[in-house]
Order: sequence, then structure tokens, then C-alpha cells
Amino acid sequence: MEAAPASAIHASSQGNSWVARSLRAVWHPCTQMKHHERIPLLPIARAQGAWLYDADGRRYLDGISSWWVNLFGHAHPAINAALVDQLGTLEHAMLAGCTHEPAVALAERLSALTGGMLGHAFFASDGASAVEIALKMSFHFWRNSGRPAKQEFVCVEQGYHGETLGALGVTDVALFRDAYGPLLRQAHRVASPDARRALPGETAADAAARALRDVAALFEARGDAIAAIIVEPLVQCAAGMAMHDAAYLRGLRALCDRHGVHMIADEIAVGFGRTGSFFAHEQAGIRPDLLCLSKGISGGYLPLSVVLSRDAIHDAFYDDDVARGFLHSHSYTGNPLACRAALATLDLFEAHDVLAANQARFDALAARLSGLATHPRVEHMRRCGAILAFDVVLDDDRARRGFARCYARHALAAGALLRPIGRTVYLMPPYVLDDEEIGLLAGAAMEALERTLDESDARISAHTME
Ligand SMILES: *Cc1c(COP(=O)(O)O)cnc(C)c1O
Repeated sequence: MEAAPASAIHASSQGNSWVARSLRAVWHPCTQMKHHERIPLLPIARAQGAWLYDADGRRYLDGISSWWVNLFGHAHPAINAALVDQLGTLEHAMLAGCTHEPAVALAERLSALTGGMLGHAFFASDGASAVEIALKMSFHFWRNSGRPAKQEFVCVEQGYHGETLGALGVTDVALFRDAYGPLLRQAHRVASPDARRALPGETAADAAARALRDVAALFEARGDAIAAIIVEPLVQCAAGMAMHDAAYLRGLRALCDRHGVHMIADEIAVGFGRTGSFFAHEQAGIRPDLLCLSKGISGGYLPLSVVLSRDAIHDAFYDDDVARGFLHSHSYTGNPLACRAALATLDLFEAHDVLAANQARFDALAARLSGLATHPRVEHMRRCGAILAFDVVLDDDRARRGFARCYARHALAAGALLRPIGRTVYLMPPYVLDDEEIGLLAGAAMEALERTLDESDARISAHTME
């Protein structure tokens, strides 16, 4: 008999609980499955408001909005009711040749939120697909407009736009680029405007201006061959909540106009109030040519994404010829349940002054964490709207590698779901925390930091003594 693989032995040693069954049957995302030999999976049985409950009834504050998707808490009564109503009416119908009220209403309301500037909604289900669609639209627009040479894309250093092959091609994460590089169509990469890169005496706006000079040089040299630049407005989230000055977006808009390059704003993570304004690009007083939205769009309920485009882009496809039309289809495009969850989410924004309430809520959270600003092992305390982050100073290589997982474990023990990115700890909870929950989250984040530093310092000194 063949020896059972280590993973099977591990899973069977945990018996037949559904955690063990998950490790056998489910290939978890963004995960080295072997790490779960030592780190248990967290079995979520139910969720309510900001809280996730495990199978034993223990609760964890969802400090990262379940991977940045949740806005108004779990099991929100208004979104639940809208979905129940929609289930009894129309669960799904195709959107080619047919149409339905939820898709139309959502397209109209999203357009209105852009002041009518981005009036055409193309639906998909995930963020990466929205990015694929925006890239294809830009390329095809230029071909339809008699500029077929414009085929190249530009992305920003340390940017993240999803993990399908087209989206990975404009994503700058070394791990992914190294693993899948040979499969990708390479894009130009320009300097990140990350405010942490400001030199001594420089402001965040100076760092942005320096990054813009890189874009200007590239557009001067290759503008005729470039179709679009894709950017995450204000916060490069997956890079570790790298924040930049809004002046960068204004400068980018001007360069795009001068050189005839589309500006694609990827607001998949930063849209829907995360940065303090409804859309992040509003803080720069500009509109992109194409806007990608997903994650919070359905309140964190159902997979839904959308690309919003300007009239000029839409109109370049409007023709008798099928091949001049936009060629992209997806079975579940515009799914009525997902659109209805999105409409209920927009209703919540309209019924309450969410952005003003969040300003106060996240001011309070920042105040609770303010002691960290002078912590000897913390640097770059930063905030953009409802996103707070800081970097942890770790001199030892091994400590750096193990930091995120170690911190996540201590955070869970302290009652919060937090997943640092590298040595960056960030808090991005749903927009529902009350004072007590704000205190609990801040307390858990600080306790996890101390315990993680103690553990890594102990390990380093034990190692040094060996
Ligand atoms: C999450 C994310 C994506 C990809 O969205 P998926 O739904 O995970 O495919 C793209 N861009 C940004 C900025 C994101 O944060």
C-alpha cells in the first residue's frame, strides 16, 4: 500500500470534524496548505454584525471585513430582507437579449454616483474579471478608433489588480510575478507614489510628484503605443495599505489627457466609502475613464463586480458590426440577487450619513491606537478614511517571515480576526462598530502586537544562545 501523504495523515489525526474534512476536500485560497498542519483553520458557524462565531460559540471581531468585502456587518436585516424578496421574484436570468430591474436600477444608481460621467455598467462577478474587462475595453476602444497600435498597459509598482492572467499582468507582487511570469503579457511599471517613500524633508505630495515624473517620461516615450494605465486610487491595499497623496491622481489624469491614455481606476477595494469619500478618486476632484468596482459593492454578500465607462468609450463600440461590439460574456453577469444586495447596500448609504458617521467612528479607533505612534517597534502609523495601518519594525529575517501568521494567531486569541500583510498590520472593519467594539478591536490589535513581539524576541534570543 502506498504511504498516505502527510496532509492526509494530518487531516485524519484531526478526526472527522468539518475542519479536518475541509483540509482534505477544500483547496484554500492564498494558502500553503501544509501550514495548516500546525495552524488550525477557523471554522465559522455563523456571523452577526461585526462578529464571526466559531463552531464552539467563541466570537471574533471581523477586523478586516472578511477580506475587505463587508460594509454594514454580517446578516444585516435590510440586506437579508431585500434578498429574501428577490429570491421570491427572480433568482437569475441571462443578461444577453434579456434585462431585469435590479441590473437596470443598479447601473443607473452607480452612474448617478459618478455624476453621470461613467454612465455604462458592464457586470461581472469578481474583481479580477472587472480588471480583465477594463483592459479589453481600452484596447478594443483604441482599435475601433483607428489607433490599433495602442496595445500596451501601464501599472504602478506594488499595485494589485487580481490574479487571473490578464490581471496578474498588471499586478506587481514579486511572489506572483516570479511564479507565473512566463504566462503573462508584461506591462510597463511606473514608480509607486507611496507616501512612505518621501525623503527627509519631503511631503507626501512631493513623493507623488516624483512618481508622476516617471509616468510623464514613459508617456513621452511610448504614449502612442500605450492604451491605459491602471491605478488603485489613494491606497494600494494589497501592497500593505500603501497610501498616497490625492495630487498623484490629479497629475495622472492630466498626463492621461495630454497623451491620450485611458485612466483605469481600480476601486475594487477602496470604493464604497473605505477612504472616507464614496469613491476614492473624488478626493482628487477627477473622474477616471473606466472604473472597476467589486468587494463592498454587494455589502459583502454575493460575488458581483462592475466596470463603469464614459460615453465616449461606450459609443466607440456602437455599430452594426458585431466585431466592433465589446466581446465579453459571463454566465452570471448582472445576477439579480447580487444586484439586489448592492441596491440594498446603496439604500443604507442613502438612509444614513454613513461617511460622516464613519469619520467619527474611525477617529475614535485611531485615538485608541494613538499610543502606538511612539511605540519603539512601530513606524508609519497611517490612516485613510476607514483604513488604519502601521508597520512593525523587525530586524531579524526569520521574525519578518513568520510575523503575519504569528500575529494573526495572537489576534484570534485576543478575540479579533486580523491578517497582517508582511509586517504591516491593518484594521479595516465594517462600518458598524460601536464604542465598546472599537475598544475591543484596538485592544486586541495592541495585545497581539505585544505577544507577537515577545514571542519573536524570545525565539531570537533562544536561537542566539544555541
Ligand atoms: C481584491 C482586489 C482585486 C481582485 O478582486 P477579486 O474579486 O479577488 O478577483 C483587484 N483589485 C484590487 C485593488 C483588489 O483589492
